Amino acid sequence: MNRPANVDVLLRPRPPSPLQEIRDDRFERLGVRLLLKRDDLIHTTIPWDTDVLGPVDLYPPGNKWRKLAPNLRAALDGGFPALVTFGGAYSNHLRATAAAGRLLGLATVGVVRGDELAGRPLNPSLARCAADGMRLHFTSRSEYRRKAEPETLARLLGAAGAEEAYVVPEGGSNALALSGCAELGRELRGAADVVAVACGTGGTLAGLAAGLAPGQRAWGVPVLAGGFLAAEIRSLQRAAFGGPAGDWTLAEGFDHGGYAKVPAELDAFAADFERRHGVPVERVYVAKLLWALTALTESGAFPRGTTLAAVVTGRP
Ligand SMILES: *Cc1c(COP(=O)(O)O)cnc(C)c1O
Repeated sequence: MNRPANVDVLLRPRPPSPLQEIRDDRFERLGVRLLLKRDDLIHTTIPWDTDVLGPVDLYPPGNKWRKLAPNLRAALDGGFPALVTFGGAYSNHLRATAAAGRLLGLATVGVVRGDELAGRPLNPSLARCAADGMRLHFTSRSEYRRKAEPETLARLLGAAGAEEAYVVPEGGSNALALSGCAELGRELRGAADVVAVACGTGGTLAGLAAGLAPGQRAWGVPVLAGGFLAAEIRSLQRAAFGGPAGDWTLAEGFDHGGYAKVPAELDAFAADFERRHGVPVERVYVAKLLWALTALTESGAFPRGTTLAAVVTGRP
């Protein structure tokens, strides 16, 4: 494949994303220092990115970018004709993959959960994927659930016309993705005692924890209800690093009713945080993380003198 010039721009090593100190009384009066690791600014801080790649809203944000980049490199180096991945109808990961594919000149196929969606008008998220050139293949929920089983996967790839494609799992969390997220941890060495991140698949937390220095702890805040995440993270770390890596823990009970549920009090909390600090707060993940850290700090979970870094994984 003829590589567009964008590949080198997009996949070259990036400088660390900014670390911003926040003055917030809810933390300060309990002796806790709060830093924001602005992974939402990963692209916007490099002026020539926008020159070469166009408007900022085209790029995969924050942690999706860290997870995708090593996979994109592997797909290009391996000469794969396309990249295939999986997601629900509102998946950020599908959107990120479609955008990355377009920027790199790599064909993308999205396997979408729910064959009842086929033939219907696309929602804005899927329309964006399609506009970025992603070919969408809708599949039944039961088949989607079994997509990791080799036979089902082979059948799905065949039906989607993507037998030769490079496969990235749902949410983008595989061994290479974890190595991309370990870099996030390395950027935070020496900067904080506790680093916290919102979790969907847990891939970002699993990689981040591995990159931190000994003595630093990673906290994950799951945004989905249900208790399978710890086992999932252990299995991701086994695949990526051969065993457990880093010191991590999950703070459960802050999912606010489940994935993409944003009750009024959470929305008000996020709007207030935006007003106080001028930082845009993405609602599905980042709002739940900041809420959890505020609540945990108020309940005394962090001793006086703790420096806390919250990873702002994406923008609204
Ligand atoms: C996907 C996503 C996450 C969760 O990442 P996982 O690696 O799946 O846990 C967090 N924040 C944002 C903004 C995301 O889009």
